[in-house]
Amino acid sequence: MLDVVLAGGELVIPETGVVRGSVGIKDGRIATVADPDETLAARKTVDCRGKWVMPGLIDPHTHIGFGDKEHDFQTESRSAALGGVTALFTFHRSADLRESSAPWIAHGERLSCIDFGLHFGLTSALHVDTLVETAKRFGVSSFKVYLMYKGAAGAAKGFTEIDDGLLFRTMLEARKVPGGVVGVHCENVEVIPVFRGPLKAAGRTDLAAWDEQSPDFLEAENVSRVIYFAAKADCPVNIVHLSSAEGLGIIRRHRAVYRNPVHVETCAHYLTMTRDDPSGFLAKVNPPLRRQADCDALWEGIMDGSIETVGSDHVPRKVATKAPDLWGASAGFPGLATLLPLMIEEGHYARGVPLTRIAAVTSLNVARLYNVPSKGSIAVGKDADLMVIDPHETRKVDHAALASYSDYTPLQGRALRGWPVHTFARGRHLVDGGRLTETALTAPAGHYLRRAV
Ligand SMILES: [Zn+2]
Repeated sequence: MLDVVLAGGELVIPETGVVRGSVGIKDGRIATVADPDETLAARKTVDCRGKWVMPGLIDPHTHIGFGDKEHDFQTESRSAALGGVTALFTFHRSADLRESSAPWIAHGERLSCIDFGLHFGLTSALHVDTLVETAKRFGVSSFKVYLMYKGAAGAAKGFTEIDDGLLFRTMLEARKVPGGVVGVHCENVEVIPVFRGPLKAAGRTDLAAWDEQSPDFLEAENVSRVIYFAAKADCPVNIVHLSSAEGLGIIRRHRAVYRNPVHVETCAHYLTMTRDDPSGFLAKVNPPLRRQADCDALWEGIMDGSIETVGSDHVPRKVATKAPDLWGASAGFPGLATLLPLMIEEGHYARGVPLTRIAAVTSLNVARLYNVPSKGSIAVGKDADLMVIDPHETRKVDHAALASYSDYTPLQGRALRGWPVHTFARGRHLVDGGRLTETALTAPAGHYLRRAV
């Protein structure tokens, strides 16, 4: 007897295509993938006729703890489930990762209703010195260096040791870790003030000014140096949250010459929002939102495979931190719950991006890049991380319905298709009829994703 059957849906299998079929779940895993006409005995059967059944999203880029450190794992994992996200990676930063990691993982396992993994944010020589040790102890194979916190910009945040030496040494250490990959935030922070000063002096406060203070070529210049260093260090790198056509062009040129692995991640907002967004400085984010031509180029990168993963860069702060103007507002905004609907509405419906490609960049490729072999697709033996979408249902984005600690979204009022009717995480029914279940609310049970290193 199976626990749950998702009966007769359009199964979106990223490796092979879309087929009609039923999925049987037992003990949190996918136990069978059957012909749609086959009758499967189960305690619970969900009629999926006319609906899409997709692998749950694995958001590769979130900032749990930037909102309310005590409760973010609870609120944001619920928000994730409402958007069909069944696992996430979050950046963990602290003075000493050896001390902070275990309590943070335990905290997450108490509160999160979906599985989660950590990327280590490296901001000091100590972090690099202890990289191999902490990677092994906590099962972490992905690390991030923030080139935009070099120099004065870093000092303002309390980081005084970030420079190219730290970046290069991180690469040398990370390559000792099986599956190790270094993600880099690319923006040339030394040149930003050259633009920022005059824009402020001219009284500019529109969102486009945020793009102009850190234009696309400052991202592309950093991308260029990072992937060149990575070639010399022989270390896989990941250009995270790529925002510009200019940056993607540099990556393509590099790939034509060097052989070292360069991975590329973008975020849903760089694909679907521009510097002219009506939400104004609510949409302030680093790197900045660009122009329509950049969105178009990034979608092309999704289609031709040069961009492998898409995340949200979810930052669950309150709208009060978006004040008093463009220059004073905090950077980043919430996006976990809207990642999937944005990809479906703007990718599948508006541009004809196949559902399999959307499943690849939001789930399968993330599982592969970050070494989570139990997730990322619909196949016997995988975790039963699944969601069911009614392709015809349109909902208007409303922050109040998204269960986040955050109390706004720059997408407020936008009509989107692609919301999950049901979400299952390791077989547990977290969202039913578009609403969080008692299981999600009272028995969270998310696991920490310890990776083999
Ligand atoms: Zn970043």
